[in-house]
Order: sequence, then structure tokens, then C-alpha cells
Amino acid sequence: MTDLPSHARVVIIGGGIVGCSLAYHLARRGLSDVLLLERRQLTCGTTWHAAGLVGQLRATHNMTRLAQYTTALYEGLERETGQATGFRQVGSISIAASAARFEELKRGASMARCFGLEVQILSPREAQERWPLISLEGVVGAVYLPKDGRCNPVDTTQALARGARMKGVRILENLKVTGIRTAQGRVAGVSTEAGDVRADVVVNCAGMWAREVGALAGVNVPLHAAEHFYIVTEPIPGLPADLPVLRDTDACSYFKEDTGKLLVGWFEPVAKPWGEAGIPESCAFETLPPDLAHIEPLFAGAMRRVPVLESTGVQVFFNGPESFTPDDRYLLGEAPELRGFFVAAGFNSIGIQSAGGAGKVLADWIVDGHPPFDLWDVDIRRCAPFQRNRRYLRDRTVETLGLLYAMHWPFRQAQSARGVRRSILHERLGAAGACFGEVAGYERANWFGPPGSTPHYEYSYGRQNWFAQSAAEHRAVREGVGLFDQSSFAKFSLKGADAPQVLGRICANDVDVPVGRIVYTQWLNERGGIEADLTVTREAEDSYLIVSSCATQTRDFSWLSRSIPAAARAVATDVSSSYAVLGLMGPRSRELLATLTDADLSNTGFAFGTSRLIDLGYARVRASRITYVGELGYELYVPTEFAPALFDLLIEAGAPFGLRLAGYHAMNSLRMEKAYRHWGHDISDEDTPLEAGLGFAIAWNKAGGFVGREALLEKRRAGERRRLVALALEDDEPLLYHNEPIWRNGRLVGKTSSGMFGHTLGRPLALGYLANEGELVTPEWIAAGHYELEVAAERFAARVSLRPFYDPASERVKC
Ligand SMILES: Cc1cc2nc3c(=O)[nH]c(=O)nc-3n(C[C@H](O)[C@H](O)[C@H](O)COP(=O)(O)OP(=O)(O)OC[C@H]3O[C@@H](n4cnc5c(N)ncnc54)[C@H](O)[C@@H]3O)c2cc1C
Repeated sequence: MTDLPSHARVVIIGGGIVGCSLAYHLARRGLSDVLLLERRQLTCGTTWHAAGLVGQLRATHNMTRLAQYTTALYEGLERETGQATGFRQVGSISIAASAARFEELKRGASMARCFGLEVQILSPREAQERWPLISLEGVVGAVYLPKDGRCNPVDTTQALARGARMKGVRILENLKVTGIRTAQGRVAGVSTEAGDVRADVVVNCAGMWAREVGALAGVNVPLHAAEHFYIVTEPIPGLPADLPVLRDTDACSYFKEDTGKLLVGWFEPVAKPWGEAGIPESCAFETLPPDLAHIEPLFAGAMRRVPVLESTGVQVFFNGPESFTPDDRYLLGEAPELRGFFVAAGFNSIGIQSAGGAGKVLADWIVDGHPPFDLWDVDIRRCAPFQRNRRYLRDRTVETLGLLYAMHWPFRQAQSARGVRRSILHERLGAAGACFGEVAGYERANWFGPPGSTPHYEYSYGRQNWFAQSAAEHRAVREGVGLFDQSSFAKFSLKGADAPQVLGRICANDVDVPVGRIVYTQWLNERGGIEADLTVTREAEDSYLIVSSCATQTRDFSWLSRSIPAAARAVATDVSSSYAVLGLMGPRSRELLATLTDADLSNTGFAFGTSRLIDLGYARVRASRITYVGELGYELYVPTEFAPALFDLLIEAGAPFGLRLAGYHAMNSLRMEKAYRHWGHDISDEDTPLEAGLGFAIAWNKAGGFVGREALLEKRRAGERRRLVALALEDDEPLLYHNEPIWRNGRLVGKTSSGMFGHTLGRPLALGYLANEGELVTPEWIAAGHYELEVAAERFAARVSLRPFYDPASERVKC
């Protein structure tokens, strides 16, 4: 304890593989004034009992990049540190026991190729040649990743710790952090059983304790522990030592050779949450009681696939706890609640394979002050405040453990812990046949079933059961009028004498506009990357309404709040729950609205891009002429308690116009035809507005400039080396989702960022970035190519356009 320094630049809480990887990478970045504190011994939390699978293929590009990096790191760690890691690149085979699973694997393989990952598609026989002990019953195909590996998690953690120590990091064991110190809205250090340590940055790498450690600082770290089971068999004579890791996800099972034995583990669909009353203080190198009744059916499935298990004894029944997050993705980055307080936790059973990459990018984030690339998938700012609710976490955890091996269907919805956040119109939408999907706990109508039906999803990679219904909603909006409940929008108010200047600095577009104007704008970082994509409405000289998406509510509000200088006379308030929003969209929306108001709705009296308070029925409503679907339309903002009456009024008045309720799937189809970007898919903090084709929303010369302008000017001078384009398949059969490789003249030039079927165009559509091997991407170069999109390892001809395929001049929006 005498070693406890009074100050460190960075304090890391937790000595599992993640904390040690972060320490190692900070040191590699030259930051060695780092103190890692572990309450007991390194690896004593979850790390010590991990199975040690190190796979590379993840659901998205950047997550795969991180896992790829981990493999490369572990491969060389022993050479660098002299500490054995047990890492062996034995490869992995995933088998498919259904056509749908094979399609999922092949789509994954296509995506992997985009990232330069070596991957082979195998026939059942070829899979058996590489893994002779499997039964081929029901197997339709497999995918082989030769560079996947396995390691010894304890040794690997020790190697990372040694590598960190070699570069000057101090690691103290048996010292628990008991408090987080703050000063002036920033983290200032930690308290321990042996005294306080001042620090500029504190990182919560406390594994399944991270929720409680976060709570010490008022930081939301939504995760919950669950029991995770594996067995280790008696030795199996003749078991090859270099067997690839085998995954039979349809049987929820994985298999790993382990010194002549087999380690068999499971990700079952109904899991057992653990530690509901908090993680016990005594927990170190903890094993939980084996629940044989729970694993029996899983074991039976594993035996069917690997029959030698039937005649082999079991040496170890292992059950250990691991932490899971509500969306099965880990939590990384600076907490929105407290500057300088970072989190890396909630690794959902892939912490060993993720630790290398997560440690690296978090070290870059801390040293450089920003993430090295788009990490939105795992960014802690995606979490909603309510998600720390214990009951919610426990109930959701029952489902999340199994998601790792579940079918990753397009549009798949969580089944547990639903109905948390509901629009005030929820019951009405439900009665009208809504099938709800969830975003950050918010229930939103995705599509409407026929009257009298009980709408539910029937998943597939092809046209799902709602396809025709959603197409009809789409057409109603294109040809007549549709009504969307958009109440889940995030809405912020910024008020005060300095509001125009404060917002003017954040927004790339000019928001010093006349009262009643709506401005579409991006918020940029210093590098010119897009941090947010939103609309800003000037409600009064000193008041703005800022509207963003449900998924980015926490992130955007944090960005806004942090951008207000201490001395500025401007106050930001999150007013999301105060207003419901109804989107009345379609060429007949004006006619319909005119029956309910005496406000001037003419194109000259109420032009596109303007917003006014109007009477509608008995309510005062902010009507904004803006659209995300590419038609004449109005977003109607109304104080929540007025919304039901307004909704009923619109439904009644809409009947003669054929008004149809429409859901988010239809909206997605409509916006794709117009190539409207979606933050989080098509644009992110690593994409600039220039690359994204949003240059029209930049006010280069406005007074006071804006954050990111200089970087953007530089990029404009240099010219674009990536460019977002709209894509349409010639073949209307295969459906696009995202991450499909884009080929130009037989060369891989990019991948799609989002995809959906466009019902007016009658084509599968996508958006995606093209790159030209570091050269400029010019309109001529784009036009001169012959393009194909790869779907499940097959290529299909595609058209590419810089302009939207539908109404490129936006005449329908402005009429
Ligand atoms: C049975 C099982 C098998 C698994 N197999 C694999 C696999 O094959 N591949 C894979 O990638 N992943 C696997 N995992 C998941 C992996 O083990 C975890 O994701 C990973 O170990 C998490 O590491 P961590 O550093 O976040 O957490 P931990 O290892 O739990 O480390 C957190 C540390 O923080 C310390 N701590 C907590 N509070 C404090 C405090 N207040 N002060 C100081 N220290 C504190 C704890 O003592 C602990 O040592 C498996 C998990 C289980 C349960």
C-alpha cells in the first residue's frame, strides 16, 4: 500500500483482460503514468475462466476490425513480452444446420472479405474433413476462418500486464476502489482503502462490477451478470491437437480442443441472470453451482453433433458469471455524465477476443481526445438513462446471452423487457394493428397488420411477412397521405440570449435565420466528421427547437450541453417527453390539413423548410414543413397530452383522403429512395459532409465559423477519396440490408451502409461509400464503372448514382 501514488495521469479500475489491455496500449502510446488498481488479483473476475476462443468475424465492419487486431496482437505478444499466451491460430469452422443459417454465414463471409479477412465457404464434406468428429446430420454448409485462434486468457492477461509494466505502468493488486472523486463536472481521481489518488482520467474496467463502480460516479453502466456454462471432457484418444474451434450455433454449442480433451460450451436462448442483488464482495475466482438440469438439453444437442461425447466422461462441469448488456454490445468510451470518466465493460462473452482491439481504441481515444474511427456500435452514449434499472437488466439478460448464437435476422426484435417506453398514442396504434419494434426501449410502430390480425414478425433473409403491408403504407405516402407516429424523436430546447451564437458554433449550417425557419444541419467534430445529423427550428429570437433521433438522444444532448461555454447565456433542456410528433406525409397532406385549420397552408404562405404554430382542432400545434420521406408533408409537434385528440381528429378527417397509418419500415423504404442519410449507418463521426454528399448544408462563410470548418476546408482542397452513392440492384429478388461488398469493374471498392427495398422504384436499394485505392473519387470515375453488389457470396449487377433515384430535384417536396 505504501506504493500508492498520490497522482496518476490515468487510473484504471479492474485488472481483467480489458483493464490490462488498456494499460498495455496506453503505455504503447507513450502514456506510462498509469495506475491499474485491482481489488483482488489480476484475472480473478471473469477472465480467469474464459474458454479462450478468439474469433474475428463480428456483425459490423469496425467491430470486425477490432477483433482482427486482437488476433494479430495476441499472435505476437509472447515474442514481445516473453510471457506465454497459449495463442494458437487453429482456425474456426461454423456449421449451418439450416438454409437460413447458411445464408447468414455466407452473408457474413461476404462481409468478411470486404475487410480482408480470409474466409472459405465449405461443403458439409469439406467441413468434416477439417473436423472429423462431427456428424453431418442436417448440415447444409459451413464457413471456415483459418486465422481465428484460441488462447489461454490468464496467460494472455499476464502478458498484457507484463508488457504494460515493462513500459512503466504501475499495477497494484488487493486494492479496491471505493469512490470516484469529481471536481467542476470532471473526474478528479479515486478513493481507495489505502487513500486517494488524483487523476486526470479514470477508466472503469470493472467487468460485472462496472455498473456499481459507475454508480459511484453517477454514471450509467447498464449491464447484468449471467451464468455461462461449459464442460471439459475426459481425454479423447486421438483427438487432433490442431482442431479448429467448431461452432454449431443452431445447437447453441461451441467446441474447442483442450489438451487432448474437448471443451464444450453453450449460448442458450433462455439464460440464468446472476448477481441480482449486486456482485458479492467475496467474488474472486468464483465458480457457480453447476445446474445439470439447465445444461442437459444443450448437452444432448452437442452430442448429436459430436457423437463421441456420448461415450466420453465429463471431467469438469463449469459455471461462471459474465456480464451482458441490453443490446449484446459492449460499452466503451467517455461517459456522457462525467468528463474524463471512461468505461470499457459489458463484454457479453467475447471479452477475450475483444480486449485487444477495445484496449487499443480506448487508449487512442484517451490520448487523442477522440475515438480513432466510428465506434458507435459500442459507444456508451447509446444507452438510455432508464437502462440502469435492475429489473429491466435482469429480464433482458435472460435473452441477451443466447443472442450471440441466435439467428441474426434482419429486423430482429428483442422479446424480453419490452414495453418500457411508449408513445402516448401506443394503445391507439396497437388497436390499429401496429407491430412494434424497439429502439432504446421506445416502442415504435414498424408496420401495421391487416385489421383483426395479431401482427408479429416471421423472420427470414427474404421478404418477411410484413413486406406487402409495408409496401401498401409506402404507396399511401407516395400517392395519397400517410400518418406516422414520430413521437420517439429526441427534442431539445436551447434558450437564452446567446443561443444563436452557441448553436451557430456547433452547426455547420447557418442557424441565424428568421424566426420560423427550419435548418437541416450537421454537428461536426474538429476533424470535420459528423457527430450529429438533425434539424434546428428557430422558434423565437432566443429560442431553438432541436430535433434528432431516438437512438442518439443521450449522445446528442451530451454534445449540445458540453458545447455551451460556461459563461454563455444559453440553457439546454431535453424536452423529448414533452411533445408527441405526428408526421402527416404525402401529396394530399395539405388538403387534409386544410379541413382542420384556417391557417394559410399555401406554398407561398407556408413554404417548405418553415415551421409555424397553427390551430388544429382544439390544439395549438407546431407544424413544420419538413420530410424524411420525400413528399409534401408536415411534422406536427404537440404537447403530449393533446396528442390523442389530435390523432383521433386526423384519423377521422383523413378517411375521405384514404389516410393510412404507416410505420418505420415504410419510412425507411421511402427515405432510401430519396437517399436521405441515416446517422449511425450512412454517416458517422468518421465521415465528413463532403464525402457524404451533404456539402449543400455547409455555410462556409457564416459569421463566427463553426466547429470543424478548418478541417473541412482542408479536405475540400484535397478532394474526396470516398463518396457516398445510392445503389439499386437490377435484379429485384435479393434483399439488401447493409455491409454488402460493392464491386466496380471486378474490384472491391466499398460496402453498403444501409439497405432496404424501395417500393416505388421496385428495386432493392442501398447507400454506400466508394473508394478508389486512395485516389480521388470523381463523378466521372463513378459514372465510368460497372458495379455489382455481393449478397451471400453471389454478385448482382447494380446501378450507382450520386443523386437520389427518386425525385432527384425534390420537386415533390417543395410543391
Ligand atoms: C464461462 C465463460 C467462458 C468465456 N469464454 C470466452 C471466450 O472463449 N472468448 C471470449 O472472447 N470471451 C469469453 N468469455 C468472456 C470473457 O471472459 C469476458 O468477457 C472477459 O473476461 C471480461 O474481462 P473484463 O476485464 O471486462 O472483466 P473481469 O475479468 O471480470 O475484470 C474486472 C476486474 O475488475 C475488478 N474490480 C471490480 N471492482 C473493482 C474495484 N472497485 N476496484 C478495483 N478492482 C475492481 C475485479 O476484481 C475484476 O478482476 C467467457 C466468459 C465466461 C463466463
